[in-house]
Order: sequence, then C-alpha cells, then structure tokens
Amino acid sequence: MPHLIRRWGGEIKIKKKSKKEKIIELDGANMDIDLIPKKNLSWKQDKCPWNVEEGKNIHKCAVKDVSICKYFRGIIRDDAVLCAYAGKK
Ligand code: SF4
Repeated sequence: MPHLIRRWGGEIKIKKKSKKEKIIELDGANMDIDLIPKKNLSWKQDKCPWNVEEGKNIHKCAVKDVSICKYFRGIIRDDAVLCAYAGKK
C-alpha cells in the first residue's frame, strides 16, 4: 500500500520501502536544492528549464535561509524536483 500525499488539490503516491514503513510529512524544511550543473557528479542530473531557456545558471529551486523558486512544487523520492515552469508567457 503506497503512502498518499494530498496537496494542491491532487494526490501523489509514494512507494514505501516496506509494508511496515510509516511515512510522516513534516512542513517547513530549510532546504538547499538546485539543478546547477556540476563537474564529476556521480548521478544523472536534469537541467532547470528556466535556466535552459535563459542560457544561464542562476535559478535555484530552494536556497537555504533565503528563498524558494516560485515554480518549485516539492521533491519526490529520492531527489526529483517537481517544477511548474512552463516557459515565458
Ligand atoms: S523549481 Fe523549476 S524553474 Fe525553479 S529553479 Fe527549480 S527547476 Fe528551475
């Protein structure tokens, strides 16, 4: 049975690592998240569509103690950014 997260008028199913695992949701994390390309990363990293469109590396999803991008919609297991950027209007 997956864990269901109900936010923003929708549902996200999170796969538990075991049937007994209990997942709780904790609000207010002070995060530092970005998709700025780095050399020698040992994992695959997608690019921020806003940075791609502007040809820059300035936009970050969440900057600890500073801000959260207006398009940031959260993180799902383990490190996938949910992004609502839809291009310049
Ligand atoms: S939330 Fe989307 S637009 Fe904002 S910095 Fe992250 S990837 Fe870029």
